[in-house]
Amino acid sequence: LLSIKNVHKTFSGHEILKGIDFSLDEGKVLVLIGPSGSGKTTTLRTLNLLEIPEAGTLQIADQEVVFGQALSKKRIQAMRRQSAMVFQEYNLFPHRTALENVTEGLIIVQKMAPKEAQERAAELLNKVGLTQHLNKYPHQLSGGQQQRVGIARAVALQPKLLLFDEPTSALDPELVGDVLKVMKDLAREGWTMVVVTHELKFAADVADEVLFLDDGRILERGAPDVLLQQPQHERTKQFLSRIL
Ligand code: ATP
Repeated sequence: LLSIKNVHKTFSGHEILKGIDFSLDEGKVLVLIGPSGSGKTTTLRTLNLLEIPEAGTLQIADQEVVFGQALSKKRIQAMRRQSAMVFQEYNLFPHRTALENVTEGLIIVQKMAPKEAQERAAELLNKVGLTQHLNKYPHQLSGGQQQRVGIARAVALQPKLLLFDEPTSALDPELVGDVLKVMKDLAREGWTMVVVTHELKFAADVADEVLFLDDGRILERGAPDVLLQQPQHERTKQFLSRIL
C-alpha cells in the first residue's frame, strides 16, 4: 500500500533525511522510534506531503510522486487524500465543537451533505467514547478527549493510511491509555497505520514492524519482539535503555 524510496530532505543546509526507504502492506502497523531530531516527524510529514523532500519517491495506493520534479497542486492534493494525520498538539479548530471539527473536512473537502457528515461524525465520536461531548468546544475537553476528536476526524475521511505524530506526548500520563486503546482498536479493525511514538509497550503490542531512526537514517528495523528485545546496534541499545 505504501512505499517510500531513497528520500532526502534538507533544512537550511542540514540534511535531515539521508535516504529513507520502507514499505508497508495494507492492514499493517509501522512504528517509528528514535532519538529527538533523528527525523521521525519529518519522515511522517513527508508521507502526507506536509514536507516536500528534494529527492526520492513516494507511492500510496495508486498515487505516486517523484520528488525533485515540479509537482502540480492537483497531484499533491490527490496524494494528500490518501492519508490523514493525527498531530501531537491535536490541531483542532478552537471555535468549532467536537462534532464540527469532524464534519468540517467531510463537508468542505469531500463535499458530503451536512446531515450525512453529522451522522458519520457522531458515530465516530461515539466510537471513541465521546458521546457526551459532541457539542463541546476543544477548551472544554481534556487533552485525551481532544486527541480522540483528532483521531475521529482523521478516520472520518476514510483515508487509505492513518498517520500519528507522537499522539500521546502532550498528554498527562493518566490520559494516555484511552488514546492508545482507540489506536489499538483501529489497528485491530485493519487500518494501515504509521505511528511515531515513544510508547514502546504500544509498539510491542500493536506494531507489525518497528523502525529505529538515527541521524536521518533507518539504522535498524524488525518485528517488535526482535528489535525491542534484541537490538543489534549500540545506538539502538542505548536509546532503548534510556527510555525504558
Ligand atoms: P522529536 O522526537 O524531537 O520530534 P524527530 O525525530 O521527530 O524529533 P524531526 O522533527 O523530524 O525529528 O526533526 C529532525 C531535525 O530537523 C531536527 O534537528 C529539527 O530541528 C530539524 N527540522 C525539522 N523541521 C524543520 C524546519 N521546518 N526547518 C528547519 N529545521 C527543521
